[in-house]
Amino acid sequence: MAVYLDNAATTRPCEPAVSAVFQNMVEDYGNPSSLHGMGITAEKNMTEARKAIAAALVCDPQCVTFTSGATEANNTAVFGAAKNYGKRKKKIVVSALEHPSVAEPVKYLEENDGFEVIRVKPSRGGIIDPDEFIAAVDENTCLASCMLVNNETGAVQPVRKIFSAVKREFPECVTHCDAVQAFMKMPIKSAELFADVMVVSGHKVHAVKGVGAMYIRKGIRIAPLLLGGGQEKGLRSGTESVPLIAGFGAAVRALMPTMKVAHENAEQIREYLLKKLSKLDFVTVNSDSESCSPFITNFSVQGIRSETMLHYLEENEIYVSSGSACSKGAHSSVLTAMGISDDLADSAIRVSLSRTTTMGEIDLLVNALQNGYMSLAKKKK
Ligand code: PMP
Repeated sequence: MAVYLDNAATTRPCEPAVSAVFQNMVEDYGNPSSLHGMGITAEKNMTEARKAIAAALVCDPQCVTFTSGATEANNTAVFGAAKNYGKRKKKIVVSALEHPSVAEPVKYLEENDGFEVIRVKPSRGGIIDPDEFIAAVDENTCLASCMLVNNETGAVQPVRKIFSAVKREFPECVTHCDAVQAFMKMPIKSAELFADVMVVSGHKVHAVKGVGAMYIRKGIRIAPLLLGGGQEKGLRSGTESVPLIAGFGAAVRALMPTMKVAHENAEQIREYLLKKLSKLDFVTVNSDSESCSPFITNFSVQGIRSETMLHYLEENEIYVSSGSACSKGAHSSVLTAMGISDDLADSAIRVSLSRTTTMGEIDLLVNALQNGYMSLAKKKK
């Protein structure tokens, strides 16, 4: 049996999500903008999904906009906030840990539209110092962006502390949080985080790929990326992908009630993994042990390049990631920002758990790591 430990890259869609996608493809296939009964059914199915996601984020369903995924939602947040609030305020403060779907739009604004960008670096453990972030924000800042859980290390960022201070001192600065790796893995209350915009993705939570959602606080104006038929209250034109949206809603409805149990289970598995890794003297754990999502553990295998170990594990039907799936083997900017040496960064492995990962699967991983290290290190000699 394959051991899938790459759940931060994507997850297996759950049965309720797949059924809802199917139902909305073969039966309820109307266009939600149509005025007849089939359109009304599609609209209703979308409303149900919107309610489920709003309940999980503890916000009003009217604040939820569906997109094609977190990449589109993050792009919309960054460009849309800059367009509306960045005419005179030309500064953006962002953590140096952001996913490319935030980091690249910010870089674009810096290189093409005259924005000054401050990238706040993390500590060695991968955590942003809230005081340093807050001190970088001033009255010229239109956007402050900090993710909640880092996708490479699992480090949980002090977003509430940062954003509450930012909103108190500079209420006009838009606060944006990429909550993709936190959603349905830890409690998130939109208001408590002081986030004006928050982004989540379906395929990380056992729904299917190609759907995401953004929470936008009432009163915050985000300019749309797409213009057209004016769907999603004008923020995201284009016929909504009702099957994917309904599947997203179904996954959230089915799994949200057991989030606490899933978290506790992941904590136990992570503890077990760390205990086993601590016995391997060729392994260095890069994730911070104090403030880390139990679902993600990043470690380096001395002297063995990430890809080499990844393929060895793959031969044993164990699937992990090198740093982050999105960087496709490129040098990890997150590990580098944490001050981790090139050697350790080049040999980093990310193991990401799902709610069904077992200790037996961890045993298989650790055995394979041990065997892999012995055979690969010998080959190098
Ligand atoms: N942000 C984070 C933190 C992620 O891990 C990912 C997925 N790798 C994304 C954004 C992009 O999500 P999507 O695949 O839905 O575009």
